[in-house]
Amino acid sequence: MTDNLPSLFFFSFYESLPRQGPGDDHVTRSLLSDLPDLPEYPGIMDMGCGTGHQTLILAERGKVTAVDIHKPFLDTLMKRAEEKNLSERITPLISSMDAIPEGMPPVDLIWSEGAVYLIGFEEGLRYWYSLVKPGGYVVVSEFTRLSDNPPEEVFRFWSNEYPQARPVEENCRIAESIGFCCLQTCTLPVSAWTRFYSPQKDKIMLLRGGSLTPEEERILNEIEQEIGIQEKYPDEYGYVFYVLQRPA
Ligand code: SAH
Repeated sequence: MTDNLPSLFFFSFYESLPRQGPGDDHVTRSLLSDLPDLPEYPGIMDMGCGTGHQTLILAERGKVTAVDIHKPFLDTLMKRAEEKNLSERITPLISSMDAIPEGMPPVDLIWSEGAVYLIGFEEGLRYWYSLVKPGGYVVVSEFTRLSDNPPEEVFRFWSNEYPQARPVEENCRIAESIGFCCLQTCTLPVSAWTRFYSPQKDKIMLLRGGSLTPEEERILNEIEQEIGIQEKYPDEYGYVFYVLQRPA
């Protein structure tokens, strides 16, 4: 994925949005607080953190290395962290999440929301296994097929856009084949998508008011098409959190 980076327009589209993937503060907090025997002040890596909505929640609990390849996202995150007096607890790291600099000590927890698909669910988990301590956790959200027989229109769309979208059980099997125990899964509520898409719709409208290159127009059309499909079929595909533990 790192040799096939999205365009600058794509990054800048998401830069000013509250978050770059669907998420839900309540789900983030409750999964975090449910992790059994997590140390008092855990070492955490947030992979593909974006502008860091969830990073700030994680930093209330532990010391976070915030990993992203796009520096402007990390700059925004650190500004937000300063406003919340959390900057001392966050270390930004410009890096691909599958090429962490050698010598980083293993952490108690790897967290990743809406980002692992960029390096591949299986590939990511395989790489992250050795970055968490034995007994440590990986909590990762992945776009997942939720129903057995999605209607043709939505199936065709996602088979083309993200053919790797698998059912929950298959993703758990993949995680277990790598050596993790799958402790829990949790599907993000539809409201998380609404919150994610609504500022995007506003931004698309704003951008269409100005001049766009054909490539930019194509990107906006694609985003809009995805929003349309997800709104029409909210229960067929969605984001699922996988709470995984590396055995002690
Ligand atoms: N976790 C955030 C952002 C999700 S969007 C949220 O839920 O809001 C995915 C993020 O992954 C973007 O910030 C993008 O810049 C970053 N990214 C893309 N490819 C990456 C890679 N190979 N390594 C690290 N980060 C990457």
